[in-house]
Amino acid sequence: MRPSIIVHGGAGSGKYGRTDKRYGGMIQAVEAGITAMKKGSGLDGVVAAVGFMEESGLFNCGRGACLTAQGEVELDAAVMKGDALSGAGVGNVTCTYHPVSLARWVMENTEHVLVVGDSCADYAKLAGLKTERLVPSKAASKKYAVMRKDAEYSDALRLVKKFRTGDTVGTVAVGSDGIPAAAVSTGGRWMKLPGRVGDSAILGAGIFADGKLGAACATGTGEEIIRCALSMRACQSMARDEAGAAAKDAIAYISKTRGRGNAGIITVDLKGRVGAAFNTEAMGRAWWDDVKGRAVARI
Ligand code: ASP
Repeated sequence: MRPSIIVHGGAGSGKYGRTDKRYGGMIQAVEAGITAMKKGSGLDGVVAAVGFMEESGLFNCGRGACLTAQGEVELDAAVMKGDALSGAGVGNVTCTYHPVSLARWVMENTEHVLVVGDSCADYAKLAGLKTERLVPSKAASKKYAVMRKDAEYSDALRLVKKFRTGDTVGTVAVGSDGIPAAAVSTGGRWMKLPGRVGDSAILGAGIFADGKLGAACATGTGEEIIRCALSMRACQSMARDEAGAAAKDAIAYISKTRGRGNAGIITVDLKGRVGAAFNTEAMGRAWWDDVKGRAVARI
């Protein structure tokens, strides 16, 4: 079958136009994914697309990540491959801008599905990744300074409630082998408490991929997405529905049970059809359009 891929650039950060760098960043991520899938699998495609976004510094992941209440970078990521429900997540990563590659290494080289904290540095070295101290981007440092200066914002426990979502990245794909795959990467939520791990490290919540159903990747308020097992829910809907309807179902469920303004999701089914839905103001997404022979984006 022909490879199919869709990426998201996060739900909740508001609408932006074609001239915004994130618009072009999503298009380039899709191109990176399609190129990788010409030679490799769906998993290669999703890791390449997310890896591009981590490196770009344009999104809330990798070099562009948001900051904790203490002004530090702590990254979460996960990958999943649908053939045997293989997958792994990593949390509180502070040693590499590419936690998605670390998650792939954990999936392919260990028995575990979740690894967090300082030990990630050892695994990153074993994975051959460059390890370094993560420095907040200039844009993130500026935003943090403004937030901290505002007296109303002095209490991180209250402050985190104001910033529920934004600019996390994720992707789902089906390669020419027909196997669905998913990958996600994030700095989490602005002003999150140090040590907090969100949905993007948790299989079933931030991502899910099942060879009999399809793949899904969520974005939004991680705590609500975990409560609703949102990506697993979307995949289960694909037992009866195509990708678009499954995405809508999952968002209808979280809206009904947890309120609106908290989530978005992208999906791909076994026929390679893609879907997207969100209950936030906007969600950047881009996918490969086979008829046009190029990537297209919508916000
Ligand atoms: N889901 C991410 C988290 O809560 C945030 C986002 O998607 O913007 O860590």
